[in-house]
Formats: sequence, C-alpha cells, structure tokens
Amino acid sequence: MTATDHGNVLTSTQTVIGQALKRLGYTEEMYELLKEPMRVLTVRIPVRMDDGAVKVFTGYRAQHNDAVGPTKGGVRFHPDVTEDEVKALSIWMSLKCGIVDLPYGGGKGGVVCDPRQMSFRELERLSRGYVRAVSQIVGPTKDIPAPDVMTNSQIMAWMFDEYSRIREFDAPGFITGKPIVLGGSHGRETATAKGVTIMIREALKKRGIDVRDARVIVQGFGNAGSYLSKFMHEAGAKVVGISDVYGALYDPEGLDIEYLLDKRDSFGTVTKLFEKTAITNEQLLVQDCDILVPAAIENQITAGNAHEIKASIIVEAANGPTTLEATKIVSDRGILLVPDVLASAGGVIVSYFEWVQNNQGYYWTEEEVHAKLEDMMVKGFDNVYQTHATRGVDMRLAAYMVGVRKMAEAARYRGWV
Ligand code: GLU
Repeated sequence: MTATDHGNVLTSTQTVIGQALKRLGYTEEMYELLKEPMRVLTVRIPVRMDDGAVKVFTGYRAQHNDAVGPTKGGVRFHPDVTEDEVKALSIWMSLKCGIVDLPYGGGKGGVVCDPRQMSFRELERLSRGYVRAVSQIVGPTKDIPAPDVMTNSQIMAWMFDEYSRIREFDAPGFITGKPIVLGGSHGRETATAKGVTIMIREALKKRGIDVRDARVIVQGFGNAGSYLSKFMHEAGAKVVGISDVYGALYDPEGLDIEYLLDKRDSFGTVTKLFEKTAITNEQLLVQDCDILVPAAIENQITAGNAHEIKASIIVEAANGPTTLEATKIVSDRGILLVPDVLASAGGVIVSYFEWVQNNQGYYWTEEEVHAKLEDMMVKGFDNVYQTHATRGVDMRLAAYMVGVRKMAEAARYRGWV
C-alpha cells in the first residue's frame, strides 16, 4: 500500500486510500478493489473544424466504483488531461460523495483539447461527439456527468441534447450543471464557491479568527475562484491576492474585487490587464495572508514552497492542489488544511439536488438549495474534523477515512470483498 510522492495524483491518492483503509481495519483485498477505477473508457472523437479539416481528439470516462450507486462527476476540457489524472479525479469524486453522504460513487471525464483556441461551433461538435462516444456507459441511473475545468452550462446543454436524441426521450437526469431553463438547479453555478465559503467560515471558527479580520489569497479566477472572491469580499474579508493562468495580483490593502469580476473573461482571465503590476502564481502562494485558497489546478503547493506559506488556513477549492509531501509539511507546521475532497464538495452536492429535482419533476427555490447545501457541508466538516482530532491523523487522511468508509461497507454488503 505504498507509493512515493512525485506529484503523480493517482499514486498519491492510492497511497492515502491505502492508509485510510488500513486505519479503518479493512483488508488488502478491499484496497485492491478500490485503488483503481472499475472501468475506464478511452475514446477518439473526430471533429470537423471550422476550416473544413477533421481533427481527432482523445477523451476519457472513468468510473471508480458503483457499490453505493451510480457514478457521478464532471468532464474537463484541458490540454493537459491524462488518463491517470482522470482516474484519480474519479476516485476523488467517490471520496467527495462519501464525505457528504450522497448516494453515488465517483466518475470523471476529460477531453484533451484547448477550448480557448476553439470556436463556439467547434466546441459544440466536440461536446456532442464526446457524448456519442461514451453514451453506452453513461445515463441517469448509471453515470451522470457535470461541468468541470473549462466546461460550463452551455456545454452541459449540448451534451444533454445529444444524449436525449440518442435515447429518443428527454433525459434531464443524465447530466447536471445545465442551464436553469433546461432543468438546471438554482444555486448550481455558485455551489462550489458557496461550499468553500462555508468551509472557510468553519475553519476560521476553529482558529478563532473573525471573517472581517481575515486576509484571503485565491489562486485561480475561474468558476470557483471568482465567485469565492466575491463571496469573501461580501462577507467582509479582505481579498489581497488573486491569479489567472498568466499571472497574479497582490495588494496587502485589498483588491478591487468588483472591478476585477467585471473585467474577467469567460475563462477567468484578468491579469493581462495589469501586466506591469502582476507577479507570478508561484510568488502569490507565499505572500502574507490568513487564508490561502488554491482554486486552479493540481500540484501547486509542493515540498518546494510549503515551508514558505504564510497562511494559517489552507482551503483547497481545486482538486489535488497540494502534494502529499506538502500536506505533511503544512500539517506539521500547524496550518489547518481543509482538503479538496471536502472543501470542493459543494458542486456535486448541488448537482445531486439537480438530479433529484429532475427525477421528481419538482423544483426548489434558491433558499431551499442553500439551506440544504449548508447542512451537508457543515456535517461533512464536523465528521472530518472530529476524525482528525480523535484519531490523531491529518485532515486529508481524516477526509479519506470518512469518504471511503461508506463505499467499502457497501462493497462488503454486496459480497464483492
Ligand atoms: N466537477 C465538479 C467536482 O469536481 C462537480 C461534479 C458534479 O457536479 O458531479 O466536484
């Protein structure tokens, strides 16, 4: 059950899954079952580009484990997508669903592409092509996709339409994160950021810091990062740093968040406007602050910079931003780390609400969605924090222990192990 940390997200996840199962008293056989997804489909998607040429894209769909219920998780469009990454992301989805007690296992999809370089119609053809390629293994009671990095409600709408055409009936429960008019849920777009805000509030309570005294750095200005900056600003915190792929902005007096949100493009790019004052993403992570929120991509906090982080709280809004070595360093330094599988669960929680509403054909108000989201996130935090405190393990291992337990029990009851 060992693997070393080279920043490979799959081996790191497997290491912690192994440790969690061992602590919970499960056998090596259970680890054998849960260390890899039960199914991974690789597809090649031909897309007619606007210039008439055909380009063939590679895509994946990984389904980690369906002992608890259908698998669930987003589809990302990114040039760096790899099979190992999609596999790890599907395992993380299982853990997220376990931590906040959703009736799902984890799934994840990805397409190797750069949506920033593609036209609207090319993206539509790619989205539809992806659904045609994976349609055999997905569905409202099998595996339910959703948005992820660089995919959004428009892409979900095309995917929903394509799936419904293939099946010859309207199947809103096939995918979540849809526009409201197509059966999307109120509160889904802001759900990940809302969940992170709730986690920051709970972490601040543990550290006895008032939100109005808190200085926050948010790395990444996409869906999660931009809404989070807005919510923290509205809560009275000082957002002192933000970043996008091109660079970062830092001002100890606080940034003008409303102005930045207004200037943000659909991919969350904003620092190009400030070329002279921008610093790098690496520099941003080690600036002075109370709360650091990595909300971009994997492997940002590493053994190389973990010693220099000034924050006393790290809340991981991205998936996998901190390596295992760095997790140990920051935990040993007494920094309170709220791990990704807990902190970013707000998205899949409201996706679950969307799916429930689609299945029952009756829709909730935004207030109802928020109240239910709040309840589930706080319960998840309390469970993880309590496991951390009583079992003497770091917050990541605690989250994995809480997250893996239901899945392992379900697999045992089914007689698989
Ligand atoms: N992509 C999001 C995540 O990583 C949401 C998944 C979902 O809503 O199913 O949690």
